[in-house]
Amino acid sequence: EATIEVRELRKQFGRTVAVDGLSFTVEPGQVTGFVGPNGAGKSTTMRSILGLDTPDGGQALIGGRRYAQLRTPLREVGALLDAAAVHPSRRGRDHLLWLARSHGIPRRRVDEVIGQVGLESAARRRAGGYSLGMRQRLGIAAALLGDPPVLMFDEPVNGLDTEGIRWIRGFVRTLAREGRAVLISSHLMSELEDSADHLVVIGRGRLIADTSVAELLSAA
Ligand code: ADP
Ligand code: ADP
Repeated sequence: EATIEVRELRKQFGRTVAVDGLSFTVEPGQVTGFVGPNGAGKSTTMRSILGLDTPDGGQALIGGRRYAQLRTPLREVGALLDAAAVHPSRRGRDHLLWLARSHGIPRRRVDEVIGQVGLESAARRRAGGYSLGMRQRLGIAAALLGDPPVLMFDEPVNGLDTEGIRWIRGFVRTLAREGRAVLISSHLMSELEDSADHLVVIGRGRLIADTSVAELLSAA
């Protein structure tokens, strides 16, 4: 069963058609790269999947349901849309403890996810001193709190240094190996061709290509 299904999705902002009849699926156990130039509609699609934008047509489903129908959303989908917005005086670990408490997630998950993203020492310091890479890891830790089978990362490597980029690439591979469905966006195909199993390429809100990376490389 597909874990993310986008069907004939359409979203307009005034006269701007951001997403124009887009359909694709994201399968479990795979990293699906979501590629398109800036303004192509990637964020709007992800925000629609998360119920943050309301589609004007079509559907965006997680495990066959709309986001609003999920009973325990953080256990079903995790997302990193922007580098985590955390008050500079707050410690990373306290931010995660607060999130866990407000979503009924056991406290022990907090130290598990901190370990998963390698944020052990930084998590005890105030977020105001974090680098972008640390904030990204904190956001990814938050997305993992509910141990969800579906994960979405919007342009997660933007602005990161080489080491940060390498870490994210390896980390999404691990998440897919665990059987999760992972959707990761980038405006650069080259950022995804090594880490993705499948590519969904869009332009002006429409599908341009939907292909496995193996097929794409053998055709080249
Ligand atoms: P991408 O993530 O691929 O860069 P977006 O989904 O952010 O693309 O944007 C798609 C189009 O929709 C762009 O033309 C963008 O300017 C427009 N858009 C996105 N969000 C809004 C909004 N809240 N209000 C108005 N226009 C928007
Ligand atoms: P609330 O606590 O009222 O749900 P939030 O600020 O936590 O508000 O989030 C706004 C919306 O985005 C909510 O629908 C929330 O469930 C969703 N959301 C926030 N963070 C995540 C995440 N990491 N994964 C999935 N959905 C998220």
